[in-house]
Amino acid sequence: MRLSSNIICGLVFLSLIGCARSVDEPKVILIIGDGMDDQQISIARNYLAGSSGRLVMDAMQYRGAIRAQSVSEANPEEHLYVTGSAPAAAAIATGIITSGVRISTFPQTDKDAVTIMELANDAGIGTGIVTTASVTDATPASFMAHVSHRACQGPENMVRNNERNPRGSYECIGDYKRNGGKGSIAEQIAAGEMDIVLGGGRRYFDQVAEGESENQVLQLARDNGFEVITSRSELQAIPHDTSILGLFVPDLMPPMLRGNGATIADAGLPEPYACEDNPEFADVPRVLEMTKAAVSHLESRGSFMLVIENEATDEHAHLRQPCGHIGGVAQIEETLKFVLQYAESHPELLVIVTADHGHAAQIISAQRANSSPGHVARLITADGSIMGVNYATTRSNMRAAHSGVQVPILASGPGVEQWPVFMQQTEIFHIARKHLGLNDPL
Ligand SMILES: [Zn+2]
Repeated sequence: MRLSSNIICGLVFLSLIGCARSVDEPKVILIIGDGMDDQQISIARNYLAGSSGRLVMDAMQYRGAIRAQSVSEANPEEHLYVTGSAPAAAAIATGIITSGVRISTFPQTDKDAVTIMELANDAGIGTGIVTTASVTDATPASFMAHVSHRACQGPENMVRNNERNPRGSYECIGDYKRNGGKGSIAEQIAAGEMDIVLGGGRRYFDQVAEGESENQVLQLARDNGFEVITSRSELQAIPHDTSILGLFVPDLMPPMLRGNGATIADAGLPEPYACEDNPEFADVPRVLEMTKAAVSHLESRGSFMLVIENEATDEHAHLRQPCGHIGGVAQIEETLKFVLQYAESHPELLVIVTADHGHAAQIISAQRANSSPGHVARLITADGSIMGVNYATTRSNMRAAHSGVQVPILASGPGVEQWPVFMQQTEIFHIARKHLGLNDPL
């Protein structure tokens, strides 16, 4: 077991200068709302708090804007102005700019880019991931693995000619362990050094690992020292002296709120409605619960890097379900409230809230929503007014697509008053790295 910096601090310095926790144990909590651009935040603020209300994130010390970045695989000199979760997460996790579907690998060369979690693990700093997506999905995966395609989530998902992967064409031949690679994303997480990983995606860990006759990826994780938990109740009492892998659902978690989807408005103005609690959500842990468990687990390590992702802000914008992505922001809000309270007694904690890319949802006139060429919904907000929400980035037979708007970055903690108000996405990597005292691998 690795010594925490707290213990090291006590052994080395106690007799000389004492231990100033606030200086010696820097911590970072990075919260990513997947696709949570300013439109989504505005929609959620109007819906949850009304026209005069404020969100928890509105009280943070710093607010700036981030340019999300990605490049073409065919020509890495060519910048793309609309990005996806995989290159955006690679920018944040590794400080490199890569192409569309890569998981923390360089475009064309397929070389691995060192992640902040790897730097932290090498330095004896605690590492954690909390997500409502599969832990193997693009955003969390980019902090924990390196593969050439984001779809290579489990050992049975490495090539396109697999009946389990009917969509898209891809292959991760070079990532097979037999070819000198590190295996699928799930196998890399199982073999990795994370202290705590909580989310969905159990089905990728139930697959037989490459080179094994029957051992599932889950067994590799156990052999590597992970305690595996699968239920919300187990989360309440996790041991702190071992690594934790919590896989609570087979894929991604259900959304907190549900309601009608947006519809083509050519038949007139759609009926306004309010969101309702999603009964399927009752059995899964909230982001708040997973975050509390992760923080208490990582606290014993002194310094830590914890990344928290909410996926509903992306998935339910693709599905044109406003209640789904509003519920995603609501989960971030209640989690952030806890994190900011924790920060009050931990001034060494840097809290960052950001999004990885822009999305499709837009606020439009509720009275003229029927003139939109896209899909529209009308929601009854907290103050009883009606808000129009529109999705018009794609044709109706396709999922709604991302957009290229700048995304917000909000922060509280040491040094944020010095930050510029506009940054490239890769700068988040360097901000977190420097706060934790980690060297630049680039
Ligand atoms: Zn997306």
